[in-house]
Amino acid sequence: MNSKKNIQTDKAHLWHPYTSMTKPLPVYPVKSAKGVYIELENGKKLIDGMSSWWCAIHGYNHPVLNRAITEQLEKMAHVMFGGFTHESAIQLAEKLLSILPGNLNKIFYCDSGSVTVEVAMKMAIQYWYAKGLEEKKQFLTIRSGYHGDTWHAMSVCDPETGMHSIYKGALPQQFFIPSPTLQFHEEWNEKDALHLIQVLEKNHKKIAALILEPIVQGAGGMKFYLPEYLKKAKQLCETYNVLLICDEIATGFGRTGELFACNHASVIPDIICLGKALTGGYLSFAATITNEHIAETISGKEPGVFMHGPTFMGNPLACAVSFASIDLLLAYNWKQKIKEIEIQLARELNPLKTNNKVADVRTLGAIGVVEMKEPVDVASVQKKFVEKGVWIRPFGKLIYVMPPYIIKPDEISQLTDAIKQIISDL
Ligand code: PMP
Repeated sequence: MNSKKNIQTDKAHLWHPYTSMTKPLPVYPVKSAKGVYIELENGKKLIDGMSSWWCAIHGYNHPVLNRAITEQLEKMAHVMFGGFTHESAIQLAEKLLSILPGNLNKIFYCDSGSVTVEVAMKMAIQYWYAKGLEEKKQFLTIRSGYHGDTWHAMSVCDPETGMHSIYKGALPQQFFIPSPTLQFHEEWNEKDALHLIQVLEKNHKKIAALILEPIVQGAGGMKFYLPEYLKKAKQLCETYNVLLICDEIATGFGRTGELFACNHASVIPDIICLGKALTGGYLSFAATITNEHIAETISGKEPGVFMHGPTFMGNPLACAVSFASIDLLLAYNWKQKIKEIEIQLARELNPLKTNNKVADVRTLGAIGVVEMKEPVDVASVQKKFVEKGVWIRPFGKLIYVMPPYIIKPDEISQLTDAIKQIISDL
C-alpha cells in the first residue's frame, strides 16, 4: 500500500474524532493488530494501552472471536429484527441474563454507546408517560460525566468538556450537580450526597431519571468515586420516584474489577447501558436493559410499544461475537487477572505521586490514571509514546491506560516505564 498517498487522502478527506479538518492531529497508519500489539505500516509494533477506547478487552484478532464472526457470516451477516429473530440474538440474551445484576431482564439491542443512552432516556420518559406523569421529562446527572455525542446523550455530558457552550440554547436543559468529591478508597461521608438530596427534593416532579457512570467517570475526567455514593443515589431515587440509569458502557465486563461497576455497591439500576467491550471490540453494538416492571408499564399504555427500532438492531454478527466475547471472559479467572493488573499498575505508577508535575495518580481494576497539573500536548506526547513502542493517547491533563486484559506483566511495565520517562522529560 502506498502509505504516503493514503495519508494525503486521509488528511484531505477524513475527519477523525474531535479534530480539526484543516489542522488535524497526526494519525498513524495501522497495518494489523494481534493480541496486545498494534502494527503500524512502517513495521513498528506498539503495545496497546487503550484497548481501542475500552473495547478490545481480549486483545486484537482473537481466534475465538474471529471464528464466532466467520461462522455467523456463513449463515448470514444481517437480517432485520422486525418480525425476525435468530439464534445469536437469543443466545446472547441468555448469556447476558446469566451475568446481569438483579432483575434486569428486558433487553433492547442497539447500535452504539450513545444510542443506548438515547434509548435509556427514551425508556425513562416513556415509563413516566405510561404512569401518567408526563411532566417527568428532564434528567439529573453529575458533573464530569460523559455519555456520548448524540443529542440527548450530549445534554447529560459535563457542560464544559461536553462543549455545551457551542450548542447552547439548542441542547435540552438538564439538572447538573457537582461530581462526588470522595474518591474510591476514602471514607464515606453523607455530606457528599448533599447536592443530590437538594436537587431531588426540589425538582423530583420534573426528573425522569438520574443518569450516571457508576464508580468510574471516564471521558469526563477519569475519576473514581465511592460505592457508597452510588448506594445513596439509588436510595434517594427510590425515595423521590426517580429512575436510576447506570451507563456501564465503559465500565462493563470487568474493567473496574467487578463484572459491572454497580456491583461494587450492590446496586441494581432501573436501566443499564452496555456497549464498547460487549463485542470484545469487534463491532459497534450496544444493549439497553431494564426490568420487567418498567417494560410492562411502557407496554401497558397506548401506544403499547417502545418507540425505537434501529435498522441494525440485533445484528447477527455483533450478537455472535458478543456471545463469544462474554464466554471467553467467563472462561478464565478474569477477576484475578484484573486484580493483578491493578496491583502492578498501582505499584509502578504510584511513585509518580511525588513528581511535582503530577497532580494525582489513581488506579482501579485494569485502569491506571496519571493526572498532570497542566494539560498535555497530545501530538508531541503521543509521538514520544509511539517512539517508545507503546500506544497511549492522553487527553487534557490525563495520561491513562486501560490495556487489554491479556496483557502480560512485562508489557504493563513497558507502558508504565514509558509514562514515567515521558513525564520526566516534560
Ligand atoms: N457512555 C460512556 C460512559 C462512554 O465512555 C462512551 C464512549 N466513550 C459513550 C457513552 C458513547 O459510546 P459510543 O462512542 O459508542 O457512542
